[in-house]
Amino acid sequence: MKTMRAIEFIGPSQVRLRDDAPRPEISDGEVLVHCRYVALCGTNMGPYLYDGRWADPKIARPPGWLGHENIGFIVESRAPQWPVGTPVLAHPDDYNGFAEYIRSKPAGLARLPENLPDLAEMIVAQPLATVLRAMVRTGPVIQQRCAVVGQGPMGLIFTHLLGRMGARQIIAIDQVPWRLKWAMRFGASDVIDASSEDVPAAVRRLTQGEMVDFCVEAVGRPDALSLAARLPRRQGRLYVFGVPHHDEQPFPWFHTVANETEIITSMGPECMEYFQTAVDMIVRKSVDLGAMVTPRMPWDKAVEAFQMYAHPETAEGSLKLTLVL
Ligand SMILES: [Zn+2]
Repeated sequence: MKTMRAIEFIGPSQVRLRDDAPRPEISDGEVLVHCRYVALCGTNMGPYLYDGRWADPKIARPPGWLGHENIGFIVESRAPQWPVGTPVLAHPDDYNGFAEYIRSKPAGLARLPENLPDLAEMIVAQPLATVLRAMVRTGPVIQQRCAVVGQGPMGLIFTHLLGRMGARQIIAIDQVPWRLKWAMRFGASDVIDASSEDVPAAVRRLTQGEMVDFCVEAVGRPDALSLAARLPRRQGRLYVFGVPHHDEQPFPWFHTVANETEIITSMGPECMEYFQTAVDMIVRKSVDLGAMVTPRMPWDKAVEAFQMYAHPETAEGSLKLTLVL
């Protein structure tokens, strides 16, 4: 059996590096990708912390489990349009992407140009694709007042894209103050420090009492979702984008129903349909998100990298944290 390097979740806030994980074998219609860059994602944090539904010991956690932001080169192909040597953004078909090699199907691949000056920045195409899908589901935002709760990598991409799509106002909200500087850099019109300000009151003031037409929750924690639910205007829209750690949790239902808020969600693999568009937008410079691919850490620092991602308040400047193989 051929082996490879992989990251394994072994307990609450504990990962370990393996160099003896089994290398995946491909079937007809699949490719094997040798990864060069693998990024961490907010959706990994519930599983990493064993928080909420992820505390269940019955959940299988194979090596590489839940990584899904991968850049690399095809090294073996049984899919005719995808020759060996092609640089790709690749979705691991089994979601075991924290690994040196992944198995992918064409639906989860996007072609990257050869000889890019900075291949690593293309990692942002994966989260960008999830935001593109969200924006398709949410209806127009031109001329609208918007709020984005959470200014981690996902929230920053929403902030940036809403500005480029013609939103009238983009209010960026986070409780980690250093992230708000990045929010301004990525196009926020206003910022609110949730660690020290009354957020609904601040939004009311910034919108002259109107509240927002569209609010995105990009955190995934109960307190952030409850806060986000308070920000849409009457009959406004709430996008629940951050993946909840819990199956059931408190939520201001009376307010939401009385306010006639429209709730929209997304999480599925359908985001892959937007991979190539996301790649092309970055290549064409329709978006300018490369600066958020930081820090870039060697693979053997993965233990530290997960700690940093889970605790942004103590990891200033850490955004789309990317491991380099
Ligand atoms: Zn992700």
